[in-house]
Amino acid sequence: MLETATVSSVASAWETSASQALKAMARDEQMKAQVQRAEGLYPLLLSAAKRFVVGETREEAISEACNLLSKGYNVSLEYICENIRDIQDCISAKDEFLGLIRIAGQANLKSTVSLDLSYMGMNADPQLAYEHLLELAQEAERCGITIMISAEESTKIDQILGIYKRIGERYANIGITLQAHLHRTVRDYLDIQAYPGKIRIVKGAYQEAADVALARSEELNERYLDIVEMIVATGRPISIATHDETIIEEVVKKGYLNQPNVEIEMLYGVRPERLKELKDEGYQTKVYVLYGVEWYLYVCHRLAEFPPNIYKAIADMANPYAEKESPY
Ligand code: FAD
Repeated sequence: MLETATVSSVASAWETSASQALKAMARDEQMKAQVQRAEGLYPLLLSAAKRFVVGETREEAISEACNLLSKGYNVSLEYICENIRDIQDCISAKDEFLGLIRIAGQANLKSTVSLDLSYMGMNADPQLAYEHLLELAQEAERCGITIMISAEESTKIDQILGIYKRIGERYANIGITLQAHLHRTVRDYLDIQAYPGKIRIVKGAYQEAADVALARSEELNERYLDIVEMIVATGRPISIATHDETIIEEVVKKGYLNQPNVEIEMLYGVRPERLKELKDEGYQTKVYVLYGVEWYLYVCHRLAEFPPNIYKAIADMANPYAEKESPY
């Protein structure tokens, strides 16, 4: 017994330091550049990354989306933009999303496209981001696609909501993500409660100060559930985006997932077996599918936030060409 406890505390100390190392690697531009140039290493890491990103191209994303839709999941699609440095990069990102919307529309995929307004140019020129989102909203409406605006750092929320409000009141196919950890979120929700689009609720991924946000805690889970309850009661479409078992059990118990306006959404590769169980029980489930060549940072974060995933990554790298059975 003592031995088991010692082994598991050593493992968790290793996991913590591995998690810290991964976060540092994620921030290290030089290391990323080396990885991208390393002929032997790159395909090995890509084989581990493929647990969390479906591939590097739009075609791979569409193919996996078709596969998931045929199995009864809903799908969100996102192109990973990490290297946005100037306005030209924002225009290229917008064009990639435009292409994605068109190809998804042509394939008749009733799916969602998720994007950050920062990648649309919001930081340098909010009017440009507005124009980009408007162009995407119009094309998405024509193609039967919805757009979900992602949540970003608390310092950007006013701008994000400002752009959302200008477009969201006209386009019901535009949704917005709200972060339960921010103290301001209930006020923000009340401010946009008359808008028609879907709301996605997440805990929040960004490090924020205590006067701005709650840390991971029971209190945060309670707040998350209170916000969900408030929105579910209105009948507005809502996506409960979490991998947290406490929250999942609670929303199942309260019967929220039985309602037609409610779905549960998880990131591709994170707890796929649990999402499958929920789908098989008849609930609306959605998989958030990411693709793109800039997967390095995203994958480091997925591994760092749940260190047991590092073991899976090592196994994937040891056996890079093995056909993996889909967990969905
Ligand atoms: P946590 O408290 O982080 O995790 C709860 C439990 O879930 C963990 O204890 C573990 O058991 C399990 N778990 C968590 N991560 C993993 C993993 N990688 N592998 C295996 N198990 C895991 N954040 C934003 O700030 N802006 C966004 O726009 C945004 N969009 C999102 C969209 C979707 C569909 C999802 C699912 C998340 C999104 N997030 C976004 C991220 C979110 O804010 C959280 O950082 C992330 O989802 C983890 O929160 P959690 O609710 O799973 O709870």
